[in-house]
Amino acid sequence: MSTTAFFVPRTVEQAIDLKREHGKNLVVLGGGTIVMGLVHDGLLFPKLAMSLARAGMSDVRRRDGWLEIGAATPIARLAALKGATTLERAAGMLGGPALRTLATAGGNLFAKAPYGDMCVPLLAMDAELEIAGAGRRYTVPLEQFLSRRSLKNDELVVSIHVPKAQGRGAYLKLGRRQANTPSVVAVAVQAVLDTNGKCTDVRIALGAAAPQAVRAKKAEAVLIGRRLEDATIKAAAESAQAECNPATDSLASAWYRREMVGVFVHRALDELGRST
Ligand SMILES: Cc1cc2nc3c(=O)[nH]c(=O)nc-3n(C[C@H](O)[C@H](O)[C@H](O)COP(=O)(O)OP(=O)(O)OC[C@H]3O[C@@H](n4cnc5c(N)ncnc54)[C@H](O)[C@@H]3O)c2cc1C
Repeated sequence: MSTTAFFVPRTVEQAIDLKREHGKNLVVLGGGTIVMGLVHDGLLFPKLAMSLARAGMSDVRRRDGWLEIGAATPIARLAALKGATTLERAAGMLGGPALRTLATAGGNLFAKAPYGDMCVPLLAMDAELEIAGAGRRYTVPLEQFLSRRSLKNDELVVSIHVPKAQGRGAYLKLGRRQANTPSVVAVAVQAVLDTNGKCTDVRIALGAAAPQAVRAKKAEAVLIGRRLEDATIKAAAESAQAECNPATDSLASAWYRREMVGVFVHRALDELGRST
């Protein structure tokens, strides 16, 4: 089977119209770094394909304190943002320079573990997704989206909305080498500490520790109302280790990943504790 049409819509509306017309027969490409891998491996034979690269979904805007990231924004653009947030840090550590110019923020939402690094800081920052279909637009919390990761046939993710970062953030990624490597584990923490150093709000997100990025909510509960001291950090790290659900693959065993979740949650909290 060969590709009979490759669409390059110029607006979001045109892209949605094409989705409405062709539904699941139309293969959507953000940067294509996952889709084209499937094509090269003979696992996907798209008859109809659509690139989002020119659909007006590649902007990053600040609006009312929120960051709005178009779904087709290249990861390299996020790495170059100047807000010193965990988002930029994660983007700068994703893949290598060539990959980051192609790979998009929207495509990353659909990447299966151990990929999907951007979802980790986005979860810790409590991001929302804007989804559009024929005649409708709505937002959904990223956490809810990740639990099913399914869209209706006529829908696309249009943008990612990130609230202004509260408190302090940390992002750490463990790979098998320094760059261009999938995560063995990734950890993002966003925490608000009061004037006594007690934690009043915290979100811990884990990557490559479950089929999709997840919050470590039991570990978060350990921290609320406490200072980031050694015993508390240790208890939270152990809790994250117990509640994650990693897989074994060619990079690492589930056992090793679970151990590293403990180590890296500990390191991230330690980093935040020391920066107070
Ligand atoms: C060498 C290499 C290294 C890599 N390293 C990493 C890494 O370190 N970390 C990491 O997380 N990933 C990594 N990846 C995986 C991948 O490159 C990234 O996850 C990337 O962000 C995927 O984005 P994309 O735009 O290329 O996805 P695509 O291949 O374009 O799309 C992926 C899926 O998402 C769907 N999709 C894309 N955009 C939308 C949208 N707006 N609405 C609805 N559906 C959409 C597509 O239809 C497809 O099903 C790597 C890949 C390679 C080849």
